[in-house]
Amino acid sequence: MTQTTPEAEIITAIQAAEKRQNFWQAMQIRDLAKLAECRPPDRPGIQLADGTPEELAAPMNMSIRVATKRILEAEHIVRRLPATLQALQDGVIDTARLRATYQITKDLSDDDALTVEKAVLSHGAHASYQEYRRALRRQAMKVDPEAAERKRKQRLEQRDVVTRKSEDGSAKLVATMLAGEAESAYNVLNHLAHKAKTPDDTRTLAQRRADALIDLVLGNDRQRVRATINVTVPLSTLIGLNDEPGELTEYGPITAEQCRELARDGVLRRLVTDDFGHLLDVSPNRYASEGLAERIRMRDRTCRQPGCRVPGRKCRVHTSKRASRRRRHRDRDYRLLCKRHQLMYQRTKGWIVAQPEPDRLIFVTPTAQVREAVAERYEEPAA
Ligand SMILES: [Zn+2]
Repeated sequence: MTQTTPEAEIITAIQAAEKRQNFWQAMQIRDLAKLAECRPPDRPGIQLADGTPEELAAPMNMSIRVATKRILEAEHIVRRLPATLQALQDGVIDTARLRATYQITKDLSDDDALTVEKAVLSHGAHASYQEYRRALRRQAMKVDPEAAERKRKQRLEQRDVVTRKSEDGSAKLVATMLAGEAESAYNVLNHLAHKAKTPDDTRTLAQRRADALIDLVLGNDRQRVRATINVTVPLSTLIGLNDEPGELTEYGPITAEQCRELARDGVLRRLVTDDFGHLLDVSPNRYASEGLAERIRMRDRTCRQPGCRVPGRKCRVHTSKRASRRRRHRDRDYRLLCKRHQLMYQRTKGWIVAQPEPDRLIFVTPTAQVREAVAERYEEPAA
């Protein structure tokens, strides 16, 4: 009889946990699809009834974007990839393989998607995720050789330049374009970076490439096109009492040193908070203050619908009909809402919103889930 070592037991336990996890993931996908079924689209041009992702996002503390994606993906998987979902439920494959199947067969016809999943699943999980993915791509190209070409063209139609903010106050500028164009553009930047090298230039090649791109795009017009940045500084840091971090709107916390660097540039607007993170003052450094609306925008910072991250500059200051009839306007009668969520309250019934304090909102969803939402403080209150 073979002796069971503790290691063998541990590995068996890890495997068993993985199997259970896959089972419950499959169950959740089935329930997400059921939710989509309960809330079919009620006007043309939409995939889910208004307010559905919001109803899930509020109790789950999830962003509306993620909730939408998960509901729509689940609906798609249940309808088009039944064998793959069953394989996840039975512990044959994991969620990564399920997601790969979803992504690679997304643009195929229903019949072609079924053919691909059947062919790949007939060999089980394959030795690795990469192998599974390659098998999927091979089968997809076999059933619809033109799909890959269609996809490439589609991607070109979606060419764009976007910014990706990172947590340390830096950001990436990402451009999607033809592979050949991207290579040529990169070669030009590389060439300029090499040319810019002087004996006393301490910048690396990579740094010179980034600087060359900025020089090309912004040219001599930097002052004119530079965006205003909102930076929040605790009063105690501002008067030099300590080195508490500041905060860059839409980026998050930044170091005291970065606050000082940005302040030297002189293009930022300073927001001052007390030591509990409440907003004290909006300095009209570059732009005239819009009074109340501006204060609400600074207080709320994003759309107040739970899970929505649409930044304040794209939101409207919203008030209830009753409050708007009042002669004296109070901060607590107002909140920021993005366009989508202003429309959602017009189009759907059953949501109740109360605002007992200026920065505290209570949402009751149509399924009676209660979610309290406090506007994000500019600083964590001291414990
Ligand atoms: Zn919103």
